[in-house]
Amino acid sequence: MKIGVLALQGDVAEHIASLGDCGVSASGVRSRQEIESVDALVIPGGESTTIAKLAKAFGVFDLIKSRIASGMPTYGSCAGMILIADQILDGGVDQESFGGLGAQVRRNAFGRQVDSFETDLTFAGIGGAPFRAVFIRAPWVESVGAGVEVLASFNGHPVAIRQGHLLATSFHPELTGDNRIHRFFVDQLCKESSKAGI
Ligand code: GLN
Repeated sequence: MKIGVLALQGDVAEHIASLGDCGVSASGVRSRQEIESVDALVIPGGESTTIAKLAKAFGVFDLIKSRIASGMPTYGSCAGMILIADQILDGGVDQESFGGLGAQVRRNAFGRQVDSFETDLTFAGIGGAPFRAVFIRAPWVESVGAGVEVLASFNGHPVAIRQGHLLATSFHPELTGDNRIHRFFVDQLCKESSKAGI
């Protein structure tokens, strides 16, 4: 199982380290060939408009979109959540997403950079203590379609959702040293799809 972390912009190294803590050797990917060679993808936090523009400039936007649509396990954190949502609210002008995840996601929903915060969340599917979640100019999920499971919410808004092979969190688990969400992605989404032969 080869997991790539989309390395166009954002906190790539932190995701590679978190996956490494789960015993997975992940690498940064940005070329067509690199993206074609991985079995699963993590799209990091950063700036979703910039990541989308760079994906177009590198000629990999449509490739990522079609790989997600054809079942590649993908985890999007913060900007990554925005990028895998079917619909973006408060997006930049003409902002496009790779899509796949049947949800409306509101960009910068919690406010500006100064409104960034941390809180403890109950996350369905991981055992143990509540998860310390870091929100940085984070999106929230405004509404979800059929088949989307809400794994965690904050103040009535879903902030972690899953739909089959797709996982998204508004927050940044790669910044806390707690790798339970990466482990959930690897064990529940990546291993499931490799068993099913996707
Ligand atoms: N606000 C950013 C965006 O729109 C996301 C911030 C983040 O990834 N920490 O892409």
